[in-house]
Amino acid sequence: MKGQSIFWDRDLPEPALHGAAPLPDRVDVAVVGGGFTGLSAALHLARGGRSVAVLEAGRIGAGASSRNGGMVGPSFHKLGSAGLLARYGETKTLALMREGLHALDHFEALIRDEGIQCDLQMRGRFRGARTLADRESMARECDWLHRNLGLESRMVDAADQRDEIGSDTYRGGVVYLRDGGVHPRKLVLELARLADAAGAVVVPGCPVTALRHDGPDVTLATPRGSLRAGEVVLATNGYADRRSAAMARRVVPIETFVVATEELSPERMAELTPRGRMFGETGRVFMWYRPTPDGRRFIFGGRLARAGAGPEACKAAFAPSVARVFPQLDGVRFDHAWSGQIAYTPDHSPHLGMVDGVWLAGGYCGSGVTRSVYLGMKLARRILGQPGAETALDDLPFDKVPFSPFSRQGAALLTRWYAWQDARDLRRAAAAEG
Ligand SMILES: Cc1cc2nc3c(=O)[nH]c(=O)nc-3n(C[C@H](O)[C@H](O)[C@H](O)COP(=O)(O)OP(=O)(O)OC[C@H]3O[C@@H](n4cnc5c(N)ncnc54)[C@H](O)[C@@H]3O)c2cc1C
Repeated sequence: MKGQSIFWDRDLPEPALHGAAPLPDRVDVAVVGGGFTGLSAALHLARGGRSVAVLEAGRIGAGASSRNGGMVGPSFHKLGSAGLLARYGETKTLALMREGLHALDHFEALIRDEGIQCDLQMRGRFRGARTLADRESMARECDWLHRNLGLESRMVDAADQRDEIGSDTYRGGVVYLRDGGVHPRKLVLELARLADAAGAVVVPGCPVTALRHDGPDVTLATPRGSLRAGEVVLATNGYADRRSAAMARRVVPIETFVVATEELSPERMAELTPRGRMFGETGRVFMWYRPTPDGRRFIFGGRLARAGAGPEACKAAFAPSVARVFPQLDGVRFDHAWSGQIAYTPDHSPHLGMVDGVWLAGGYCGSGVTRSVYLGMKLARRILGQPGAETALDDLPFDKVPFSPFSRQGAALLTRWYAWQDARDLRRAAAAEG
């Protein structure tokens, strides 16, 4: 987005890295993309004794890793338990859902054990029900998660909603107690610092322009010279293009928008989020929102603006939805607006593995903070031949997106169709519920 201003950049200097000028002649593993996935893989590969270079086209975390909402949790699966059961049956469903818990466990342990300073605050997430039918379906899902995975959550009646959120817009909701938030840019910079300290060569401003298989090695072309590598990891996710074609053919990039309010008074913040929770809501095209880690502002995100919208159009697109949830914020000033690319996959699932002679990890479908850090580690283990490399995702094929060159336009049309369906469902529910 031209003219954007990312809240997470405030008061954060660029990291001091050892860098590499010139690039090394050869490394064991070259990682393309310096976001959560690439840096997590690089950290574990370097600690496993491999020589590693991370080549990042922009600054460290130029992609989604510095632009996201920083909301973390088990991020189970976009299909939910009912969708997974219908597609894969019970055993596979449970294995896939458990992977979400493993990812969160790994994420929290890494932050704790490495002393990563990224404002991790595990204060839970309230998800509001926009209709009574949504609330019933969430109650069934929570019951299933508790019975099968022991996951704690709490249903909230509309009458008690004000204990969770300064809003009456929902028909109650659920609190996911194992969810929370981080400051995503602090996290990606900390991962870069750790990878650098472990011996990985982390090179921002170094786009890979072509890959060529050369005998047992791959040669990577960059404007700063070429580099040979024994293995290549493509960690380009929603920023993949023809230069990382194996990834680009398998994901649909979707632009997602975010705004951050001006500073709000402590009293107003306490009214909006009495327990410092993160927030989400039901619907196909929904808004997510959260307090900033310093507790002074609110951030709202979602696919609410048209692809390619500038900052002012983005702010205008969010204003009605923000006022719908929080009428007390009607007319609030947005100090920041930005966007980023998520990577969707045809089966709604992230993937990792080798395709066309290169390693890939990505396709987080918009829920990738914990899963990218986790799958980066898993991919590194696999390359290192270490135990504990397997995941429940391993046997899911990372299929190409049908009609890939048109997928961006297709996704934009689909978003508008979903928004229309949401509006229709809300009208019907309002008529039925009175
Ligand atoms: C607006 C937004 C909000 C989100 N909110 C959340 C959230 O609250 N919770 C959650 O769990 N997930 C969220 N996500 C998803 C999450 O941010 C991503 O899943 C995660 O950051 C993916 O990390 P990554 O390292 O795989 O990809 P990215 O961080 O996108 O990194 C890919 C990198 O590859 C680089 N690159 C591309 N091509 C080349 C090349 N040829 N040469 C060199 N480098 C290249 C890019 O510059 C980019 O830095 C959100 C995403 C967006 C966009």
